[in-house]
Amino acid sequence: MADSSEIESRYAAPLAECAHCGHMLPQGLGEKECKICGAVCRVSHQPTVDNLTDETLPCPHCSTVIVASTDERPIELTCGACTGKFTLTPKIIKAEIDCPGCERMLRIRPRPGTRELKCPACESKFNITF
Ligand SMILES: [Zn+2]
Ligand SMILES: [Zn+2]
Ligand SMILES: [Zn+2]
Repeated sequence: MADSSEIESRYAAPLAECAHCGHMLPQGLGEKECKICGAVCRVSHQPTVDNLTDETLPCPHCSTVIVASTDERPIELTCGACTGKFTLTPKIIKAEIDCPGCERMLRIRPRPGTRELKCPACESKFNITF
């Protein structure tokens, strides 16, 4: 059963690329260190910051609508109506990859660097680099 006191945010910054080597940076906003070349890049995306700050969600305990009023995730919020606590967690972005063997679409959680994937349909293995 899912923990009802954790809610995934509806918004996330788009995945950013390292300005130096073009590989994917760790997800999120602020200063991110490239896992491939070590460069530190500043990731900013004002529309996402606005969306996160204005994000509203119903309290999991009493359904009162609460405004996040911060772009920090995870963030612990306290409901003003019932004083129940819950955590708003970062949205996880999934990347879609075509299997080179059977062209099945795989949805994976991207992480910077190279790793081996195994297709669940045709069992072929391949390396993927973000
Ligand atoms: Zn880099
Ligand atoms: Zn509440
Ligand atoms: Zn496949």
